[in-house]
Amino acid sequence: MIRPGTGFPTDKASGTTPVAHDPADVVRLAGSAPSLDHLDARSSVCRACPRLVDWREDVATKRRAAYAADVYWGRPVTGFGVARPSVLVMGLAPAAHGGNRTGRIFTGDRSGDWLFAALHRAGLANQPTSVDAHDGLQLIDTRVTLPVRCAPPANKPLPEERDACAPWLTRELGWLLPTVKAVVCLGSFGWQAMFDQLRALDRWSGRTPRFGHGAEVEADGFSVLGCFHVSQQNTFTGRLTEEMLDAVFARAVELAHA
Ligand code: SF4
Repeated sequence: MIRPGTGFPTDKASGTTPVAHDPADVVRLAGSAPSLDHLDARSSVCRACPRLVDWREDVATKRRAAYAADVYWGRPVTGFGVARPSVLVMGLAPAAHGGNRTGRIFTGDRSGDWLFAALHRAGLANQPTSVDAHDGLQLIDTRVTLPVRCAPPANKPLPEERDACAPWLTRELGWLLPTVKAVVCLGSFGWQAMFDQLRALDRWSGRTPRFGHGAEVEADGFSVLGCFHVSQQNTFTGRLTEEMLDAVFARAVELAHA
């Protein structure tokens, strides 16, 4: 596991960054974070969900044979990209051997290969690949974030873990939404999380609209777009194709430039 303040390129935390040990701490530390960088630092050392802390650190210790030489990140993964984006991408949670290994969302796994290649084709990333935190990837007018910041077993966070993590995202959205024109939600979990957040921010009332690939909902000053998740389950089976992904990001770019 990468310890805070030991020089890892994307690490914004230090040895003195305050640590959340329970959901009440998350509320307090997220709400009082004075900047997006402070929020990223604080969330990256969070220990509020015992099951997820045990899982992420166990995976980081045992490692997969293919990555036996790697030092795993083994901590919560933060949003990645610019601080004032027009396009926001909402994922689910980091993968055990992807973001939990590399320390950057959607980095070092097949889902990221699909996502960042699509962002590059859409003009929203400077390169199509996302290998590790040292690879030079930069997003253009775009940020990728997630409703659950620790890798969950079987990619399935529990409802109480989703709820515990929500204040980090609420605070992040408070800074991001003033410039956002399009939110691309990858999968129904991200879609539901986004509308839950908008209700919490008093920017949506009523029920969550039906999720579907290509769904588009006008919210308060921006649009929310539905997209099947870039999981291997969807991309290997052809449920999600490059053309389908490109169509969603083309629409997001169109909205960003409107
Ligand atoms: S899932 Fe979120 S709230 Fe839970 S330990 Fe990870 S960062 Fe903290």
